[in-house]
Amino acid sequence: MKTLLTNAWILTVDAQMTEYQFGWILVVDGKIKALGDGPPPGADATRDMGGDIIMPGMVNTHCHMAMSLFRGLGEDVDDRLFRYMLPLERKFVSPEMVRAGSTLSALEMIMGGVTTVADMYYHETVVADVIARSGMRGVVGQTLADFDPPDHRSFDEGFALCDALADHCAGLSRVTASIAPHAPYSTGRAVMERVADWHETHPETRIQIHLAETEAEVDWAAMTHGTTTTAVCDRAGLLKPGTIAAHCLLMDDADIETLARTGTRVAHNARSNGKAGRGMARVDDMRRAGIPVGIATDGPMSGNTLDLFSQFGVVSIFAKILGASRKPLPTRDVIRMATIEGARVLGLDADTGSLEVGKRADLIRIDLSSPRLQPIYDSYSVLVFATMPTDVRDVMVDGTWLMRDRTVETLETAKVLTDANQVAGQFRAEIAAIDAAMAAKG
Ligand SMILES: [Zn+2]
Repeated sequence: MKTLLTNAWILTVDAQMTEYQFGWILVVDGKIKALGDGPPPGADATRDMGGDIIMPGMVNTHCHMAMSLFRGLGEDVDDRLFRYMLPLERKFVSPEMVRAGSTLSALEMIMGGVTTVADMYYHETVVADVIARSGMRGVVGQTLADFDPPDHRSFDEGFALCDALADHCAGLSRVTASIAPHAPYSTGRAVMERVADWHETHPETRIQIHLAETEAEVDWAAMTHGTTTTAVCDRAGLLKPGTIAAHCLLMDDADIETLARTGTRVAHNARSNGKAGRGMARVDDMRRAGIPVGIATDGPMSGNTLDLFSQFGVVSIFAKILGASRKPLPTRDVIRMATIEGARVLGLDADTGSLEVGKRADLIRIDLSSPRLQPIYDSYSVLVFATMPTDVRDVMVDGTWLMRDRTVETLETAKVLTDANQVAGQFRAEIAAIDAAMAAKG
């Protein structure tokens, strides 16, 4: 099958940031066969892009997709984690709940131009199937933790789930398995060493971990190991090119050097970190040290939205505040982080993240007709500071259209919303019971 996209303003996001203002892209068997400007070649199907921007599909480097079902729940309740979230997770997290929430998230991400996601939660074989069916690309991570998580009662059971996930993903073309120790303090050094060994025997997988996110974590590392949380991970052998570290907020210069030396990659969750009042990651310093840094939404419980566009302003502003200047993180760099650099964070940059001959055809079309986007002096400025998910008109992954003219073709929108709201109904009833029990206690 040959598909030709014509009349496209192509932002390739290749190493030279090549653009074709009046360009075309030829997609053959899911791959970009050729692209350029001037007279286009022949094809079976041609689609006129109307002068709109065509750019690489975006990469969300850290997410907990199923948690879209918790979006906005107990938003302004101080102890919402212990009052609502953990009891609800213990009672309701099941393969069916994970399927409903992850599918809702896949739908939201496709409609917002995200084509690749790294997920980390429970029942991840279900998430792998959701991603596969939605047409997206992804890295799925089975969480390991010591806080009585919903799908394993011991670390042995958790590792068995990781084995099963690796086997499951071997049969899926766009989904990569990963092992996801929740955080250093919730797994401990011995388990982190075991994770590093497991990864050695599963080189096709990735490691995902929350790192240097809270003061409590820093205190834990100082008290139990007399060093930083990053150094504890390094000594456990957990930091390596296959490792995706989310957050990385509380890092000194030596920690940043450690990430760079070990080839560790970083998922930057600016909006979620800001909303929790936790701080601003030193993204400019990390990127200068040669660490790939991708942009991430975090789970919708903490970040509320899976919209990468709404991250861009915060990512950019945090870097400028930390640098006390307008200069850090120009708009081109933000778009690189959301595409090719995000793909590098997940180890998928040979396949996706830029529009180049030989890569898989993962691309999105940005409709430029909104008054909010006009006039256009600098396309990257428009993308970073003015574009919204609703401006994404078409989405293609692996040469297949996932969305055309705002209609998602791989998921049944009405059913996805019904299934999600059915679970939300169960949550509401449980919340009412929790509140009633608390009130009775006085
Ligand atoms: Zn997270």
